[in-house]
Amino acid sequence: MAKPIIFTDLDGTLIDFKTYSFERTKDTVEKLTQKGIPIVFCSSKTRVEQAYYRKALKNEHPFITENGSAIFVPSGYFNFDFDYQKEIENYKVIELGVDYKTIRKTIESAREKTKVANFGYADLDLEEISSIIKLAPEAAKRASTRDYTETIIKGDVTSPAFEEFKEELLQNNLICVSGGKYHTVMGKQSDKGKAVEKLASLYRKAFGEVLTIGLGDSANDQPLLKVVDQGYLVQKPGNYWEDMDIDGLNKINGIGPEGWVLATSPLLVK
Ligand SMILES: [Mg+2]
Repeated sequence: MAKPIIFTDLDGTLIDFKTYSFERTKDTVEKLTQKGIPIVFCSSKTRVEQAYYRKALKNEHPFITENGSAIFVPSGYFNFDFDYQKEIENYKVIELGVDYKTIRKTIESAREKTKVANFGYADLDLEEISSIIKLAPEAAKRASTRDYTETIIKGDVTSPAFEEFKEELLQNNLICVSGGKYHTVMGKQSDKGKAVEKLASLYRKAFGEVLTIGLGDSANDQPLLKVVDQGYLVQKPGNYWEDMDIDGLNKINGIGPEGWVLATSPLLVK
């Protein structure tokens, strides 16, 4: 039988959209882990933010950060060599994205050129970040520790100058995508789907046949849900699904974590 591997989004999927709580999914996560089914986080969240949830949920598997910008593989997780770009702490890092320093430099010169006034994490102090993104200072600090993406959380994101700013970024191999409230700037090659495919190929080498299972709630999960064998779309608050056109996509009747539990529970009885 093929080995199931779960690739999951966090915000609004494994954890609650509003409260960021994992209370609803905790038990199921524990049981799946005991059954030896890897759960791989695949989120726009940073390495430091994901470390918090990995620790809380006793997750020791690889994880994908900042919208598919990098794959962090714990040292010794696979018993074969593979290509990676750098080592951070105890992880081998496969990078798809562009480093934060380069992104910041490019943003600053694009702002200068287009005279647009907007602000990302690196432009603001913790107190202001905390009040804008409505997270406690500790969580805001974790969100501010960025490796591969910058998010515009304040200022001009609507004027013609902002459109020029985005075009300027594009000329320099960066894209600026809207996440609803905020706009995230990242490398053109950052992609949840590509990252999942890359990591799935390592799992295939380790286990032979694998069954990839993907879970998400939003537009930025589309690349992830497209590349997996079984994709599950959970509901958003208000009981509706993000509009998505993917063959064979399973729409689950449950909001966020509720849907997550419904979609993954059948794996426990197999
Ligand atoms: Mg989400």
